[in-house]
Amino acid sequence: MLASLKGMLLTIVSTFKKPVTDQYPKKPREKEPRYMGFPALTWDHEVGEPFCTACMVCIRNCPTQCMSATMKDNPLQKEGKSSRRKIVDTFEINLNRCILCGICVEVCNFDAIVMSHEHEMSVFERNGDRVDLVPLLEMGMKYQEESGWVPPSKKAKAEAKPAPEKASV
Ligand code: SF4
Ligand code: SF4
Repeated sequence: MLASLKGMLLTIVSTFKKPVTDQYPKKPREKEPRYMGFPALTWDHEVGEPFCTACMVCIRNCPTQCMSATMKDNPLQKEGKSSRRKIVDTFEINLNRCILCGICVEVCNFDAIVMSHEHEMSVFERNGDRVDLVPLLEMGMKYQEESGWVPPSKKAKAEAKPAPEKASV
């Protein structure tokens, strides 16, 4: 009897206590800045084209071989608007096979790929998570906007600049 009362009391107390867990997916958790979701492609706002040149380095290094890409001559380079001679034409990632290792981001020399914050992409179809260039760029742009992303090479250059000398009095 005493044990039952204790149990009931515990239930009542727990009912009115602040929950220690989030009720996902009703209440999605805020993601940490370094959270690694699915890979996505970045957009060069200064030039108005993707950073990706389809150089294939990430594709060759991907441990699950879930990426593919093709390149084309860059029309903006011919117009003198871009320094990229080649540009991505098609790009696809089978996100069902991606293990979120981040190797593609590590090996890319062009700041063209990021680990976005996207993770809610479950589908019922076997090939439903094959994502091509446009949605990959949309995911990337969303990440760039939300995180205030600066191309790592640009950041490194800015940090490497010597501090201006103080004027002598
Ligand atoms: S994302 Fe980077 S490494 Fe991969 S193909 Fe594009 S430029 Fe090359
Ligand atoms: S995160 Fe890893 S598994 Fe996923 S696409 Fe990049 S290299 Fe491949």
